[in-house]
Amino acid sequence: MKERLIVLMDADDTLLDFVACERSAITRIAQFLGIDKIKEFCDDYHVVNDNIWKEFEQGMLSVEQIAYMRFDRIFDMYDVHADSKKVSELYKEYLSQEAVLLEGAREFLDKSYREFRLFIVTNGITYTQERRFKLANLNRYFEKIFVSEQIGARKPQKEFFDYVKSHIDGYDDSRAVVVGDSLTSDIAGGYAAGLPTVWFNVAHKPFKGEIQPTYETDDFDDLYRLLSNF
Ligand SMILES: [Mg+2]
Repeated sequence: MKERLIVLMDADDTLLDFVACERSAITRIAQFLGIDKIKEFCDDYHVVNDNIWKEFEQGMLSVEQIAYMRFDRIFDMYDVHADSKKVSELYKEYLSQEAVLLEGAREFLDKSYREFRLFIVTNGITYTQERRFKLANLNRYFEKIFVSEQIGARKPQKEFFDYVKSHIDGYDDSRAVVVGDSLTSDIAGGYAAGLPTVWFNVAHKPFKGEIQPTYETDDFDDLYRLLSNF
C-alpha cells in the first residue's frame, strides 16, 4: 500500500481569499481615517499597492519601505494627514484578524485531511499567518504550518523546502507534491525542490514564465481527484 501523500499547500489565494481579507482590512483603515468614499479608497489603495509591488520586483524598494510608503501615496491622493508608519502597523493588525476562505476550501479540507498528510507552506509574518489560520479554524487539518519568517527563507528558495522536508516525519520525495496559486513562488519553488506541482489557478491567470507546473486546475473537486490519483 502506498504511503499517504504529503501535500504542501500554499495559503493565500489557494485556501484563503486574500483579496477579500485585504479589502476588509483596508475598509477598516478607511473608517479609522474618517474617509467618506470608502469604496473608492479601497479601489485606489489596490492600484497603489499593485504598483508599489511592481517597483519592489524591480528592486527599487524594500519590503519595509513598501509597508508604509503605499499609505504615504494614498494619503497624498486623499489629502490625509496621518502617520503612515502607525497606520501600516494598524493595517497589519487588522489583516491578522481577517481569514476569509475561498469558496469550496472548507469542503475540500474536510474530506482531504483524513486522506492526505496536509501541510501549509506560506510566505509571510508568523504572527499574522498563525493568527489568521486559527481564526479560520484551519489548524486541525494540518500536521504542521511552515511560515517563511520563522524559517528564515521564503518560497521559491530551495532552503525553504529543504527545511520543510527535514521537519516532516517520514518525509519521502516520491510521495510529496506542492499546491499553490503562484507561478513564481509555489511552482518555481516546488520545481527547485524537485517536486511535482499543482498550479491552483482559480483566478485564471495567464501562464507566464518558463517553469511549467506539472498539473493545473481551477477547482477544489478536481484538485481532490488529482491528489487521490498520485
Ligand atoms: Mg498564494
